[in-house]
Amino acid sequence: MYAIAIDGPAGAGKSSAAKAASRKLGFIYVDTGALYRTVGLYMLQNEISMQEQEKVAAALRDIQVELAFRPDGQHVFLNGEDVSEKIRTPQVSMAASSVSAIPAVREFLFDLQLSLAEKNNVLMDGRDIGTVVLPNAQVKIFLTASAEERARRRCLELEQKGQPVAYEEVLEDIRQRDYQDSHREIAPLVPAKDAVILDTSDCDLEGAVQRILEIVHKKLPNIKIDF
Ligand code: C5P
Repeated sequence: MYAIAIDGPAGAGKSSAAKAASRKLGFIYVDTGALYRTVGLYMLQNEISMQEQEKVAAALRDIQVELAFRPDGQHVFLNGEDVSEKIRTPQVSMAASSVSAIPAVREFLFDLQLSLAEKNNVLMDGRDIGTVVLPNAQVKIFLTASAEERARRRCLELEQKGQPVAYEEVLEDIRQRDYQDSHREIAPLVPAKDAVILDTSDCDLEGAVQRILEIVHKKLPNIKIDF
């Protein structure tokens, strides 16, 4: 099996670029952030304080998270309910970032991620895919962009969805999540030693996809890519 790990900070355009690149490769695209968001959503819905690690860990016993891969992409299920849309709010983003710092949560989601990579050719995106989940991935990319550029993109995206948010608020949110994600003790957001750093501050989505495919082609020349 082939595995491509794409890690990077919030809003670097990982998911859009990874989704498009996976189609060109014929690999399944696994958005691991959705898993942490789903656990975060459960804690919010059940008013479980994410500062209380033991309570969060105990609640994991009542959670079943599943993924399904459909023509329109990945769907995530929380105890049987498709929550793919519900997990895309700023509140759930923060909750995901909080629960992801809890070791029991990372352990809980680890097997699911690993088993997908054992059975399929995957392009998996997240924060610790190249460092922890798939350290043997044949291709590792660390996709990043400046915080300002990421905030600008996120604002545009939310505006297009009819949910405009002030730029300063989005920027602050991104900075806070970056800090939380890169300073936690467990699986902090750092590039793997053998990752290729891809800064997309100056390129659009198409450019980012093209660069990802070029990196993959260089490392795995035998894979047929529909450029
Ligand atoms: O990628 P996304 O923004 O959906 O991820 C939400 C949160 O989940 C991130 O801020 C991060 O804290 C956490 N996460 C993680 N490890 C991953 C994927 C996401 O800690 N592999």
